[in-house]
Amino acid sequence: MIAMLIGVHVSIAGSIDKAVDRAKELDCTTFQIFTRNPRGWRFSPLKQEEVDAFVRKLKIHEFKLTAAHMPYLPNISSPLDETYKKSLEVLKAELSRCGQLKINYLVTHLGSHLGKGLDIGLKRAVDACNKALSSVDNDVTLLLEITSGTKNSVGYEFEQIVSIIDKIEQKDRVGVCFDTCHAFAAGYDLRNEKAVNETLKLFDKIVGFSKLKVIHLNDSKGELGSHLDRHEHIGMGFIGEEGFRAILNHKVIRELPLILETPVDSKRDWLGNLKKVRELARI
Ligand code: ZN
Ligand code: MN
Ligand code: MN
Repeated sequence: MIAMLIGVHVSIAGSIDKAVDRAKELDCTTFQIFTRNPRGWRFSPLKQEEVDAFVRKLKIHEFKLTAAHMPYLPNISSPLDETYKKSLEVLKAELSRCGQLKINYLVTHLGSHLGKGLDIGLKRAVDACNKALSSVDNDVTLLLEITSGTKNSVGYEFEQIVSIIDKIEQKDRVGVCFDTCHAFAAGYDLRNEKAVNETLKLFDKIVGFSKLKVIHLNDSKGELGSHLDRHEHIGMGFIGEEGFRAILNHKVIRELPLILETPVDSKRDWLGNLKKVRELARI
C-alpha cells in the first residue's frame, strides 16, 4: 500500500516556500496554502525567486499532490457585476499562480447568490469557471468545494455541484473538494460507518468518485444539517471519532489527499490533530 496523503493548511508567512518547510516539519505528505494574503482583493505577482524556491522544495521533499485555496473575498456566484468581475479576475489569477507554483489543485467556494436565487448563482458560477479555464491554460484542476449551506450560499447539495460540472466545457479540468464539516452541516450524515457509506454512495451516484480529488478533514461545531461553517478538532465535534474512523477507513477516501483545516488552540494544535487522524486511520 502506498502511504496515505495527510496534511494541513500551512501558512506562507515570511515567503511562500516556507510553507513547504512547515508542511515537512509537521511530517505532512500533502498540504494546502493560500498563494497570498486571503483577506484582501489586492495582491502582488509572485517573484520568480519565490516560485523557484517553492518548486525546488516541493521536489526535495517529494510532495506530489498539493492544493491552494481561493482567498476569502471573491464570490463567483455574485449577481453584482462589479463583485463578479473582480471575483473572476481573482479566479484567473489564482489558477495561473497555482500553475507557476506547480500546485495541482485550486479549491474554490461557490459563493453566494445574495438572495437572487440559486439558479442565478449557479449560472454565474458556471460562467466564471468556464471563463477562467478558457483564459488560463495549464495543468491545474479547479475543485468546487461543497459548502455548509449558510444563507444564500451555492454548492451545498451534490446535485448543485454536478449541475455546475455538467455545464463546464473543459470537464477534465474540474473536480470536487469534499469538506467533511461542510457536508455534515449541509445535512449529509457522517457519524458512523453506515452513514459514511451511504453518504459516499450517494456522492458517487450523483457526482461520481472520479470527480472526487481532495478531502478537507474537519469536524463540525454544528449539528447535522445546522448549516454552520464552524470547524472543530477531529473527533471533538458532532461527527465524532466514530465518524472519522469510518471516513478514514473508506477505501476511496484513503487514496486521496486529506487536508486538515482544524483550529489551533489550547485544546489541540496541528500535530495533535494529525496524530489523531493517523490513529483513527490505523497507520
Ligand atoms: Zn474552503
Ligand atoms: Mn474546506
Ligand atoms: Mn469552512
